[in-house]
Amino acid sequence: MFSEELLKYDWDETTARIAAKTGADVERALGKRRRDIDDFMALVSPAAAPYLERMAAMSRALTQKRFGKVISMYIPMYITNSCTNSCVYCGFNRHNKFPRVVLTPAQIEAECRAIRRLAPFENLLLVTGENPRAAGTDYLEQALRVCRPYFNNLTMEVMPLPAEDYERLTHSGLNGVVCFQETYHRERYKVYHPAGMKSNFEWRVNGFDRMGRAGVHKIGMGVLIGLEDWRTDVTMMALHLQYLRKHYWRTRYSVNFPRMRPSETGYQPNVVMTDRELAQLTFAFRIFDEDVDISVSTRERPEFRNNIATLGATSMSAGSKTEPGGYETYPQALEQFAVSDERTPAEVAEALRKAGCEVVWKDWDKVFD
Ligand code: SF4
Repeated sequence: MFSEELLKYDWDETTARIAAKTGADVERALGKRRRDIDDFMALVSPAAAPYLERMAAMSRALTQKRFGKVISMYIPMYITNSCTNSCVYCGFNRHNKFPRVVLTPAQIEAECRAIRRLAPFENLLLVTGENPRAAGTDYLEQALRVCRPYFNNLTMEVMPLPAEDYERLTHSGLNGVVCFQETYHRERYKVYHPAGMKSNFEWRVNGFDRMGRAGVHKIGMGVLIGLEDWRTDVTMMALHLQYLRKHYWRTRYSVNFPRMRPSETGYQPNVVMTDRELAQLTFAFRIFDEDVDISVSTRERPEFRNNIATLGATSMSAGSKTEPGGYETYPQALEQFAVSDERTPAEVAEALRKAGCEVVWKDWDKVFD
């Protein structure tokens, strides 16, 4: 289990190692054919800031070699904001008083139809809060079955589940699972997640092993940028990715680096990552792992998304609503966070094509399931 592996890495020592990296370390990392975690630390370190142009060119070339100019489009569908957790940065946390919604199968179907009217999306990301009683595995299975006829590729971002539940859901059309560890800082994790099942660090971090064991086709991972030192957090995530690749080599992987956005809680980020730093991180990940999908959501501004689409990203959401029923049923409900890119999917696609990308709505067919 990765929680045991993680014990080998001390947070403060890793932070100090990253801070001590020099220009020579960055040069060495860029000059290698295959990079290890030490090289990754150099590439995300402050010492790599002057190498941004070179890293961008390398990231672009590696991405085009492996993925072409493809940007795969997806859209999230929130089906419940009911949550038993207390994440201090999230508008859906259980202490926030507002009407909770659990979409019925008929409402989920109405959302499917509304999305299909919006654009030819085939990749759907189903998102829930974490409430096993109100929206447990039975409910998720039902939701997948309702969505299946409308979309070829179904991914879920839901509470971590037992391996047998992941396996069961793969038989109901589940292709991928996204889970955000939020932070790999074991002690500070409890400050941000003080109660509810999400307060259990081990259960969450080992959820990826359970997905791998269950044979989930694609696993998405990420940390929430704004909690702890992002350089250390993403280094731990890179270690986690390396570990998963070694143990579950049949699985495909994607990464995402969400920067904290304003929410109803008014919580302010502890650390702010600039656009240049987010670009550096994207390039570093691409140079470190040539096969990983890099996803960029509507949390980011249109200008940033248009640029990063040509330099390392491989998938993007568009037209996203972050409230359950937001496409049709409850368009005025409380959103989980405010999006930055409010363009329609057609506008996003047009901008990406103008930037030279090939916009792909469908890259999987359910016949392969
Ligand atoms: S981040 Fe997820 S688990 Fe935490 S309060 Fe929000 S919806 Fe619930």
